[in-house]
Amino acid sequence: MGGQERKLLLEAFDSNWIAPLGPHVDGFEEEFAAIVGRKHAVAVSSGTAALHLSLRLLDVQPRQEVFTSSMTFVATANSIRYAGAKPVFVDSETDTWNMNPSLLAEELDRSMRANVLPAAVMVVDVNGQCANYAQIVGICDSFGVPIIEDAAESLGASLHGEPAGSFGELSCFSFNGNKIITTSGGGMLVTDNEEWAKQARYLATQARDPAPHYEHSVTGYNYRMSNLLAAIGRGQLQVLPDRVAKRRAIFDKYRNELGDLPGVQFMPEPDGFHSTRWLTALTIDPNQFGADREQVRLALEAENIEARPVWKPMHLQPAFSDCRSVGGAVSEALFQDGLCLPSGSSMSEEDQNRVIKVVKRCCQPVAVKAIR
Ligand SMILES: *Cc1c(COP(=O)(O)O)cnc(C)c1O
Repeated sequence: MGGQERKLLLEAFDSNWIAPLGPHVDGFEEEFAAIVGRKHAVAVSSGTAALHLSLRLLDVQPRQEVFTSSMTFVATANSIRYAGAKPVFVDSETDTWNMNPSLLAEELDRSMRANVLPAAVMVVDVNGQCANYAQIVGICDSFGVPIIEDAAESLGASLHGEPAGSFGELSCFSFNGNKIITTSGGGMLVTDNEEWAKQARYLATQARDPAPHYEHSVTGYNYRMSNLLAAIGRGQLQVLPDRVAKRRAIFDKYRNELGDLPGVQFMPEPDGFHSTRWLTALTIDPNQFGADREQVRLALEAENIEARPVWKPMHLQPAFSDCRSVGGAVSEALFQDGLCLPSGSSMSEEDQNRVIKVVKRCCQPVAVKAIR
């Protein structure tokens, strides 16, 4: 937490606006919409709920396809399943680790010829970095397929000066405990379409029709955010720029200390991209480094330091083994060699030095081994 959350939370508590809703929800939505440059924001109970609502707003029907990134957290794909739709997993490009625009274009073209265009493309901004929207937006527009942007990991990032969350017809964020800012749990749906924003609020509160009694003409959800959590969210928004700066500083230190080790490559940030470096992710080529990603992870674990492989691609997940995928070799290679280092904003310099020391110790290039 930053400085103001406790004060705002107690204020909300004392005002007796506990739940549901209240003035902090309205305030949080307004402030959030301004930060990501959108007309409307709807505060919800989780990022997953925001994704699910987005599919519902686009009227995605059971058995329709929704293209999405294979390299992501499972929540993305789960939300497509909640809508009864069929996820199709598109591989990453090496430049951004996000959805490969050429593969997307080819697959959309094939789908158009078969007369089965997907209902939407759910593009993920992974590890704090935007996908290549400079290409993806034009491609989706040319096929008339709407974009849902899953920016759950990328609040605070930008591409050519445009903020993450500004690229989808609907864009979604998460305030889960591990994200760059948190409300303990929560999410946000943003859009420029006023009708969708209204409809999202309606669906997220059990779809109550205007009537003195409880009247419901469609199925809704219990997806709204409480006023208490929105108060925390408003406090967190104030520290977002600091959090981004801190995560980037953590990344820079890792890269300065480890970037020259043989076989180590950090997640790239191409020109025009501004990543939050939510997670410091790198790949380790075992032939050059002299140890593989798993050996490094275990060495860290032995020192009570938690590191994790990068997301296991969805097309390799048993839960989605019946789904179609487009390409896959790039995300598979990233999973095989990719490691996320501890990157929390509250990490101390000393903690980071411990991590760096262990990674350096694991590096045993073959040439050195031979001399020994
Ligand atoms: C965290 C995350 C979500 C889900 O957000 P929750 O608030 O945990 O439901 C969705 N997509 C991605 C890419 C995420 O990292």
